[in-house]
Amino acid sequence: MTAAQVRAGPVDFLLSGIGQLVTCHPALGEGPLGVVERAAVAAAGGRVVYAGPEAGLPPDLAPASGATRIDALGQAVVPGFVDAHTHLVFAGDRADEFAARLRGVGYEQAQAAGGGINRTVRHTRAAADAELRRATLDRLGLALRHGTTTLEAKSGYGLTVTDERRSLEALAWAAERSRVEVVPTFLGAHLIPEEFADDRDGYLDLLEHEMLPACAPLASFVDAFCDRGALTVAESRRVLEAGARHGLRGKLHANELGSTGGAALAAELGCVSADHLLFCDQGEAKALAAAGTVAVLLPGTSFLLRTGRAAPVEVLRDAGVTLALGTDCNPGTCYCESMQLVIALACVHGGLTPEEALLAATDGAARALGRGGQVGRLSPGAACDLVLLAGRSYLDLPYHLGVNLAKVVVKGGRVAADDAAGVPAEAGP
Ligand SMILES: [Zn+2]
Repeated sequence: MTAAQVRAGPVDFLLSGIGQLVTCHPALGEGPLGVVERAAVAAAGGRVVYAGPEAGLPPDLAPASGATRIDALGQAVVPGFVDAHTHLVFAGDRADEFAARLRGVGYEQAQAAGGGINRTVRHTRAAADAELRRATLDRLGLALRHGTTTLEAKSGYGLTVTDERRSLEALAWAAERSRVEVVPTFLGAHLIPEEFADDRDGYLDLLEHEMLPACAPLASFVDAFCDRGALTVAESRRVLEAGARHGLRGKLHANELGSTGGAALAAELGCVSADHLLFCDQGEAKALAAAGTVAVLLPGTSFLLRTGRAAPVEVLRDAGVTLALGTDCNPGTCYCESMQLVIALACVHGGLTPEEALLAATDGAARALGRGGQVGRLSPGAACDLVLLAGRSYLDLPYHLGVNLAKVVVKGGRVAADDAAGVPAEAGP
């Protein structure tokens, strides 16, 4: 039995004829992405049992009767994308604010004029359960069709006990009906809501003593927006520490609008990730690396806000910080469910190499969700989540722009999306 294989016996999934397999596990192939040419992937019970050269596929891994068999016809295969940061649960849209920004109105200016997050909070509170659930499920469907098989999603447009709980319930409802694996995060600290503008501590009391007990059972992580115009470092610390008492590990929106201390706080508290990091100096990057805190970069947001600023990749890279990518899908600053576009922007606008970007969109993002080794790579024992690309190389992801390159999306060893463009995905004999 080779390192590419964990067990013998019949398999219920076999993908053969892969021209280029990207395992995102360096030990299994060439380079940082662990690339294998002329490869096959076999799975049983939703987990990879073999990922390696097709010629080395052990004969005892024959497909069982009724197994899913796919011929990749020489195209490339990558792990299913992991989106490490989204705000999927919201009602309404802010297309008009987007258009105003294109005409020169700044994001913080729009926020001050009654737009921004507070406006989506009003839309979300006013939405019926059915509307909120359906909108969330539709966005999960779009993400899946573009190759995302695991996705983090936050509450944070409710900001009352009822509406934060309702947002996480809508997310759970949608997750049950979607093939995307959803990792829920409680973000009651997205903003101090308008009605508490003069009583910030009052809101944090509510969050700590009522919202967290109501929401923690539905969440895996707690998050806070630590930045200018949102929460201070002291307020964010209070939220993350309170979340920890409810068993929630921390994530933090940090250093997006300035060097506001969020990155240092995330490292100090051992957060699983610090997200945005458009401002991050050497000392902060070293602290993140030492704490094992993953840097989640959101290049779609900085691109669409047109600030001209991207996260300082060289500083993060030199410090050895693990990089992850997310769409930041939200109605204000980046309405996008496509990790393919995010990979392209990370390369073209964010300064990552194609290899760094793909690793950050899979294995790195899995680590930002505490799921490293379980999803985001095609190695024996990991979930059989993958994307058969309409292209012969992973380089098509940043290169062949603006079209959906996900031909077939597999989640847990089963076809979850198929654009039916000539690839057989039928159950075999
Ligand atoms: Zn965010």
